[in-house]
Amino acid sequence: TVVTRFAPSPTGFLHIGGARTALFNWLYARHHGGKYLLRIEDTDRARSTQDAIEAILDGLNWLGLMPDGDVVFQSKNADRHAAVAKELLAEGKAYLCYCSQEELAAMREKAKAEGRPMRYDGTWRDRDPSEAPAGVDPVVRLKMPQTGETTIADEVQGDVTIGNAQLDDMILLRSDGTPTYMLSVVVDDHDMGVTHVIRGDDHLTNAFRQYQLFVACGWDVPTFAHIPLIHGPDGAKLSKRHGALGVDAYRDMGYLPEAINNYLLRLGWAHGDEEIISQDQAVEWFDLPAVGKSAARFDFAKLENLNGHYIRQADDARLAALAAKEIGDVDDAGVSLLTAGMPGLKERAKTVAQLAESAKFYLSRPTFPLEIPKAAKLLAGDAPKLLGDAAEFLESYEDWAEESLQEALRGWAEERELGLGKIAQPLRAALTGSNISPSIFEIMVVLGKEESLARIRAAAA
Ligand code: GLU
Repeated sequence: TVVTRFAPSPTGFLHIGGARTALFNWLYARHHGGKYLLRIEDTDRARSTQDAIEAILDGLNWLGLMPDGDVVFQSKNADRHAAVAKELLAEGKAYLCYCSQEELAAMREKAKAEGRPMRYDGTWRDRDPSEAPAGVDPVVRLKMPQTGETTIADEVQGDVTIGNAQLDDMILLRSDGTPTYMLSVVVDDHDMGVTHVIRGDDHLTNAFRQYQLFVACGWDVPTFAHIPLIHGPDGAKLSKRHGALGVDAYRDMGYLPEAINNYLLRLGWAHGDEEIISQDQAVEWFDLPAVGKSAARFDFAKLENLNGHYIRQADDARLAALAAKEIGDVDDAGVSLLTAGMPGLKERAKTVAQLAESAKFYLSRPTFPLEIPKAAKLLAGDAPKLLGDAAEFLESYEDWAEESLQEALRGWAEERELGLGKIAQPLRAALTGSNISPSIFEIMVVLGKEESLARIRAAAA
């Protein structure tokens, strides 16, 4: 069965690219009825923080991408990683290297002078350990094949090949006995039973080395899928300005997790022309060959449109709670009002922030004169007089329901040889303090007769 994993390093927030990697791993596992695991790669103790671990878990939780089973902390497996290196040493597949800092520095200088990346020259590969200098703690290096090629049959990139001469004998254990990142990843992926490694294509070059390490250990090599990174709209590497933010920032800006997931799914993966794809559809359709090979471009406008769609689909009570949180200090009665008003409000908003902004009038009466010039204009001229008359009429009107109110006010306006808009627009300004709002009849019903009349009278005064 398929086992995938998301393996973030907890050195910062869960950024949007990481979230997409997690999503692809989650979807691939779900699509194949497999398992999706989470491994926190916290071996770099200096750069890993508890805050980052919490931010990652929090972000995944919000997106609905928590793993099947317990979270694995890589640092806890250090002994096991070291034991594997020692086994390779015992089998002659790895060796002790006693090169001094000076010797390594010389190799680095030489590579620099020749304009190529630094490669360990294999000094200790065949040397007798009895020649080891005193007082030097050795590192453990893997004996890489020196001839032939390594080919990764990548599910996204296709076959990618490197000449083995380019793979130097990488370090498995540092001189202080701690495992390197490369060793930890391979051992953990094996021990966790990972069958598919789906991650950013910045790790493609690591894959060749990891492949050889799997082989040296006598383990099955997982299938690799290196997905292109996300770029900004201008094609450059994604920067903060472009949206390279933490998932929490998107939540704070008022995006719904289902919109983020839908957007991230479409960022570099396509199923025909489908833009709006539900979670269930995504699970059914997702596969790796349809992931594009070139970098996807982040597009805020598209994300906003999707968010607008998911807001319109979302449950009213849920949206009311989100809007209330955004507004702050809303009591239960206020949340009920927002819930009742949500069908009209959610038609217009692209983010929760916009939703909250447009909902505020439900919670507090407008103050006159109105601040918004276009709204104030609606209350100019004979509008106050009309509102006063309308208030009187509505006072005696009993059937306080949307359609009935609309019909009644239309009739009332016709009797005065006016269009409905002539009274509807001042009513909008009176009820909401704005020139833009949901249907005023819906608003009157949500506010109730008493509150509606109070607002209309205040504007008429
Ligand atoms: N920890 C690595 C990262 O955060 C990912 C390693 C992997 O997926 O193999 O970039």
